[in-house]
Amino acid sequence: MSDESSGTLANLAHEERRFEPPKEFAEHANLKADAYDEAEKDRLGFWEKQADRLDWDTRWDRVLDWDDPPFAKWFVGGRINAAWNCVDRHVENGAGDKVAFHWVGEPEDDKRDLTYSDLKDEVSKAANALVELGVQTGDRVAIYMPMIPETAIAMLACARLGAPHTVVFGGFSSDALANRVEDCDAKVIITADGGYRRGAPSALKPSVDEACDKVAERGHEVRKVLVVRRTSQEVEWNDDRDVWWHDLVDSQSTEHECEFFDSEHPLYVLYTSGTTGKPKGILHTTGGYLVGCAYTHWGIFDLKRETDVYWCTADVGWVTGHSYGVYGPLANGATSVMYEGTPDTPHKGRWWEICEQYGVTILYTAPTAIRTFMKWGDDIPAKHDLSKLRLLGSVGESINPEAYIWYRKTIGGDRTPVVDTWWQTETGSIMISPLPGVTAAKPGSAMKSIPGVVVDVVTDEGESVPNGSGGFLVVKEPWPAMLRTLWGDDERFKETYWSRFEKQGFYFAGDGAKKDDDGDIWLLGRVDDVMNVSGHRLSTTEIESALVSHPKVAEAAVVGAADETTGQAVCAFVILRESALEEGEEAPDSLIQELRQHVQKEIGAIAKPRQIMVVPELPKTRSGKIMRRLLKDVAENREVGDVTTLADSTVMDLIGKGMSSSKDDA
Ligand code: ATP
Ligand code: MG
Repeated sequence: MSDESSGTLANLAHEERRFEPPKEFAEHANLKADAYDEAEKDRLGFWEKQADRLDWDTRWDRVLDWDDPPFAKWFVGGRINAAWNCVDRHVENGAGDKVAFHWVGEPEDDKRDLTYSDLKDEVSKAANALVELGVQTGDRVAIYMPMIPETAIAMLACARLGAPHTVVFGGFSSDALANRVEDCDAKVIITADGGYRRGAPSALKPSVDEACDKVAERGHEVRKVLVVRRTSQEVEWNDDRDVWWHDLVDSQSTEHECEFFDSEHPLYVLYTSGTTGKPKGILHTTGGYLVGCAYTHWGIFDLKRETDVYWCTADVGWVTGHSYGVYGPLANGATSVMYEGTPDTPHKGRWWEICEQYGVTILYTAPTAIRTFMKWGDDIPAKHDLSKLRLLGSVGESINPEAYIWYRKTIGGDRTPVVDTWWQTETGSIMISPLPGVTAAKPGSAMKSIPGVVVDVVTDEGESVPNGSGGFLVVKEPWPAMLRTLWGDDERFKETYWSRFEKQGFYFAGDGAKKDDDGDIWLLGRVDDVMNVSGHRLSTTEIESALVSHPKVAEAAVVGAADETTGQAVCAFVILRESALEEGEEAPDSLIQELRQHVQKEIGAIAKPRQIMVVPELPKTRSGKIMRRLLKDVAENREVGDVTTLADSTVMDLIGKGMSSSKDDA
């Protein structure tokens, strides 16, 4: 039976390396092996226990209402306030002087520490200010900000009022902002004059002005724009609409009586990265979401509240910035680092300098960043004392085994566990991950679903695949932080996630995965990106990882391009490490042939790329994910599709030019 007819994916790569948790770590781990048994015996009881980490004004009377799938209700009847849980209760419990955020601006020496008491005052003031602007419970507020403390304060102020926020990444265009503002009908936007990126002020307010005009043409009015002064750039001012944060917020009272809302009250709408197409407005509600974030942040990152300094590098415009930059760590009373700028400003060691300065113990970042640091070379982190680090995390894409090993060794001193965490905007919190004090982790595998979550890999027919084969990743049981719907579009919600395995009632994640011989899970990339070469279904991830395992390669992206003989052929785009070539040197043909051979040796002739192109950059979303559909357009000589969610649109021109000059070496 070919891979195609069974609906499974070819299983090509093998990995023998294992990393046991350090003994000390295992002994003191927050989550031990028994958590799996406990959750399996009584899943809902397990989640109830996790819900008890939070302060509820009224306790729930039912853990889960799944009477009308796929519309879930968690902790039914419970009343809760997310901001209270993230801020006030820590102050009440005597932790007011503890630092919530060590904020680091991009310009050097631009720093600010905020304690939980500071945060409580600021959030209360901002909440009072929003009320003055007419924001009421249930109103949507758009947030379009740089990575500054006011961003978290604005989110928490919205949460405090029960006004769902929609954070739009500060690097997005006015079009993207306008579409999101319109889609969720936001009447107020919170923004800044600008933020610092790559050593210079980068304006935000002009995009807000444009977005307001655009939506006005479509009959939608943005009533108020609240503007933080960050860069002191010149801004155009609309007296009827625009209000300075310092004029309005600073003079407000630090007292704000907080109201408790139904557990299912909307907390926020966040649009997905748009890696595969039109972004979807994911709706998260309050109780279940916060339970998911707090539990996983405590358990997967093994948070020791008193001693850890935690840093999630994700921008708040992405779900990781929501769940693990704001809600998870604050719900747990953690001390976090928040950094405004880019990793190479003013020098390529900036992150490691920050880690050293604040004694960061837990670092959570994305493979795209890790591979960039690999490209820059080991000598850069080597200049800094990273000995306080005790746990490393990865999210966003599969981490190639080679990148994992580099991360563990070069950043983690070969001592820190690495947690490769799989989840989505839709899932709200981590779903698949090693437990750092329990799992003997394999580089490149996210391992197993965490206690409380039931994930599987299934065939087209929804049958669980045997160990050693691939298929579709599904979630078999509802979980507290699951999305409740797509904003204003229940039909698209059902269609996108629940129709594929409707009969079985599984959530379809859209990702391909395989189980290895031990039953551990390996993510293989988007189902939409699966290639079909001579009847074999090949995943992008495995071939990319094979390329990255070559010592001269830092990053790789693979796509299937139409091919007369094989149906599809493997086309690869690679970025070389800086040490691979002399400055200005072109990649010689011998190197291309060497890389093709390398893939053949690592995973077999079927996966040998027809074509390999060396590129200076890859097209990525703002959250750093490779947009393979654009590369596919290039590989098939088509006009490149929608690039609006691309971080840097010039990248496609560079690749297009290189492509036309490169020859087909099949
Ligand atoms: P869109 O849904 O609009 O195309 P997106 O899927 O990129 O955008 P996110 O919700 O930010 O938006 O990303 C979730 C996806 O990221 C997952 O479905 C998966 O493809 C990928 N992903 C996240 N973490 C991992 C991981 N640890 N290993 C492999 N893939 C991961
Ligand atoms: Mg997605």
